[in-house]
Amino acid sequence: MAATTLVILGASGDLTKRLLMPALYRLHALGLTPDLRIVGYAMESWSREHFERHIQKALQDFAPDYSASQWNRFRRQLDYVGGELKADQLSALKDRLSPATLFYLALPPPLFGVAATALGEAGVAKSPRNGWRRLVVEKPFGTDLASAEALRTQMHAHWEEEQILRIDHFLGKETTQNLMVFRFANRFIEPIWNAQHIAQVQITYAETLGVEKRAAYYDKAGALRDMLQNHLMQLFSLTAMAPLAEWDAEVLRNHKVEVLRSVVPITAATIDSHAVRGQYRAGQLGRKKLIGYRSEPGIARGSRTETFAALRLEIDNWRWRGVPFYLRSGKRLASNYSEIAVQFREVPGALPKAVHAGNNWMIFRIRPVEQMDLLVTAKRPGLELAGRPVVLTAPYASPDHREFSAYEQLLMDAFEGDRTHFLRFDEVEWAWRLLMPVLDAWQSGTPDFYAAGSEGPTSQKRLLDAGHAWRSIARNGEA
Ligand code: NAP
Repeated sequence: MAATTLVILGASGDLTKRLLMPALYRLHALGLTPDLRIVGYAMESWSREHFERHIQKALQDFAPDYSASQWNRFRRQLDYVGGELKADQLSALKDRLSPATLFYLALPPPLFGVAATALGEAGVAKSPRNGWRRLVVEKPFGTDLASAEALRTQMHAHWEEEQILRIDHFLGKETTQNLMVFRFANRFIEPIWNAQHIAQVQITYAETLGVEKRAAYYDKAGALRDMLQNHLMQLFSLTAMAPLAEWDAEVLRNHKVEVLRSVVPITAATIDSHAVRGQYRAGQLGRKKLIGYRSEPGIARGSRTETFAALRLEIDNWRWRGVPFYLRSGKRLASNYSEIAVQFREVPGALPKAVHAGNNWMIFRIRPVEQMDLLVTAKRPGLELAGRPVVLTAPYASPDHREFSAYEQLLMDAFEGDRTHFLRFDEVEWAWRLLMPVLDAWQSGTPDFYAAGSEGPTSQKRLLDAGHAWRSIARNGEA
């Protein structure tokens, strides 16, 4: 990698401490970023030594491979500048930048536009003739369609769309990237990846955590904005998109947008059969008693924010008409369990019950482990001609190789200018378009309650076709 500068705006914050620095530390330890200079920028008037101590503590807490000797090499990459998000103060960065410079907005979302504008006004946004300037923006991009469009306009005043890397860390996950490789690099998958062979798709992101320290943000956002609009929509479009004719970031993003544009819009008339929201009440997980959402510190007592959201999406195109895609995510559920589960249709013909052990499933598991499972029927060993379900498993992890974290993957992509795993504005825009009628409808009424530690509200069943059942969260998908 040529000499590159990474400027982190918001370098005193939680993201920098917990995710960015541990990722940068590992990339450096692996020799992947020998010529990187990291400049922290935040309001605190810290010295460089103070910043170093702050980061060292963060790495001791969050970097699994921390060692004193590696730290001594890594610390030489660090620098710090204190200042506000104002053009005249950001100008102080100028003599620290190299021809190749990446700005990372590790800031609260309301400051994305402010920071992008101030950088522009400071004169550091324009790519130099012999290099580049890029801007990484964290999620969420807007809180609805109108605010996302306004933010886009604000950013485009100083930054070209090609310079903006909108991060969704799900796109850096092994499972997500494998989805593309597995779908398109195996001859036998593509011919059956359609409505003729697939009965339903379930995309679940369930967590046992409650709102933790994010109450102020979460109570305004809710599950639909926090998880469905971005992460789950990405998994959805990667699962459903058409094969790429060319391995190219723009082609890929065109295909993903095409999926979103083909979704049958949810309207006020169809909302009940297409969207369900829930909120956790007091409950129990194992032996641990859990308080309800409205009793959590920082949450309004009568809050109507959803902590669980489920959608039924239908795609009206040649490939998918007639296949429901069920998406759901929630907090304080029975386990930390996430996956994309694709169920194939029944085999035709009157197979005896003893032989047919159930429909095939292809499951891309994200949590608790990242692996692929293919559920098939095979003969039960013995004299009788009978079938039994067999799971063919392909784990990603191996004992001699620690996986790259999503931030490690995405930071390398950002340095290299590979936009494949970042969001183009129209992806964000179309995801908001789809969800606006739901957000509007949910301005009134109340979510359905579910007990903390459970499978979520029972009302989620109303989204399902006859013969379909939600996979169990408590039993990691087992019936
Ligand atoms: P944070 O800890 O609340 O703050 C981030 C930084 O912003 C800090 O340096 C903070 O400075 C600075 N800041 C706050 N208000 C400011 C202001 N008015 N002017 C200038 N600077 C200000 O947030 P975070 O958790 O790191 O999150 C940053 C971004 O990453 C968010 O967009 C979030 O959605 C995203 N994200 C976070 C995580 C995570 O695990 N934390 C995970 C995924 C995505 P002070 O330290 O002085 O307050």
